[in-house]
Formats: sequence, C-alpha cells, structure tokens
Amino acid sequence: MSKKDKEAKDAKRAKAEAATEAARKSKQAAKEEAGKRLAKAKDAAERAKHKAVPYKAERQSLIDCAFGMRDNALIKGNGGNVSMRVPGAAPDGRDAFLVTPTAMSYDTMVPADVVLVDELGNTLDGKRRPTSDMTAVLYIFRHMPEVNVVIHTHQPYATALGLVVDELPADFTTVIDELHAAVHVAPFTRSSDEGMGILTVEHIGDALAVILKHHGVIAVGKDIDQALTAAIYLEESCQAYLAALATGLPIAHLTPEQIADEAEERGYYGQPE
Ligand SMILES: [Zn+2]
Repeated sequence: MSKKDKEAKDAKRAKAEAATEAARKSKQAAKEEAGKRLAKAKDAAERAKHKAVPYKAERQSLIDCAFGMRDNALIKGNGGNVSMRVPGAAPDGRDAFLVTPTAMSYDTMVPADVVLVDELGNTLDGKRRPTSDMTAVLYIFRHMPEVNVVIHTHQPYATALGLVVDELPADFTTVIDELHAAVHVAPFTRSSDEGMGILTVEHIGDALAVILKHHGVIAVGKDIDQALTAAIYLEESCQAYLAALATGLPIAHLTPEQIADEAEERGYYGQPE
C-alpha cells in the first residue's frame, strides 16, 4: 500500500468514526431530552393532581375526625359520617359542604374521596357518592347557620340510653361544659332520610347533640373539635348515667342554680395561647 493510499484509508476511517460518534452523541442527546420531557410531564401531572383537590386540608380533617370517632368507640368500621360547611364556596356564592362518601373505608380514604356539594346536594367537586345521610345533614346546615360541622355516629351507650329515657339530664359537669345542656332523645325516624335532620333541628334545643332513638347520635359544632368533643363526652356521660340507672337507686340531680354556676365562663380551662 502506498503512503498515499494509507493516508486516504486513515482519513476515511477517521471520518467514519467521527460520523459514528456524532450519531451516538445525537442519540444520547435525544434520549436525555426525552427523559427531561417525561420528568417535566410527570411533575406537571403531580402538581395538577394536588391542585385538583380544592379544600384538601379540610377534606383531610374530615377523615381524621372519622378516625377520632373510631378511636373513641363512637363508630365501628365504616359507620357514621362527617360533614363541614365551607362558607361561600358554591359558584353562586352560597355555602358549600364537604361530606364523607358512602360505604368507603376510612383507612384507605383520601381527600379526593370527600365530596363537595351545594346546599341541595348537587356535587360541585368529587367522584364519589356522598353519605346516604346527606339530605338530613344538609337540612341541619340550612336550618342551623351557626353549625359548621355535623357528625353522625352509632355510639352504643348513648343509643342504649335513648331506648330507656327521653333525655340525658345536665347532671354531669361534662354535659354542662361540653354539650351546653341536657341532651334530648328524638323519636324514631328511618335512616338515610331527611327526617333525621328535621328531628335533630326540632329536638336539639341548646345542646350540641341529639340522640336519635333506635339509631345513634347527631353532634354539631362550630368546628370539628367542638362537635367531636361533644360526641365523646356524650358517650362518657351516657355510660355513667346508665350505670347509675342500673342500680335502681334514686338519681341525684343538679339544681338549675348549680347548672348555671357550672356553666359560667371562668376562662381557666385550656392552655394559654
Ligand atoms: Zn346512621
């Protein structure tokens, strides 16, 4: 091979190698670009998913409340429901309401499962079927504007007491402090019916709860903490009252003056801010 031929061959090889390298680099760049695009799309989808759940924190607080109900033996399994007023959140500026879905496990429930409805029960946001007690709950919200949270439970002691008396008297400091008044027993009405809401409004009086005869309890509050606390202390007081009734001995009662004295705001309870 002449020197010239060798040079030509080397040049050809170098050119081929350069072309291969350029092709490799371009393929690599395309791959990196595609990877970046995919990551960007995933990121956008993730952000859209979070953005697509309005009132996410409020929705989560309803699920947490359901766990609180279960931790305090007010419900079993998927029982009961929790609802919350969202002031002015409907498109027409009226209040909207967050309600837990029907027949879903609280253990696997995520904020998107909680449904946002208008005051007539039309879904504003969410894909799940709302609680079967929604018409009753919405009736309560419409007729009790001071109420922002409604809890429904099947707590056993309160339900048991409802079968034997017409009210839990304000004979306990916890009833006076956390429920604000004697708790009345509303007559029977079938479940999943607006009647539950109508009877609640009729019988709740000054208290934060009502016992639904043969069924359970509706507790209300200005927020989740107040409604859940009312339901928990109702259960504790009903357990104590049933124990007292079971002795068959005469029951001691507080006088209206003693009740008023206990109810007086003393500003001590709780920790300073
Ligand atoms: Zn029920």
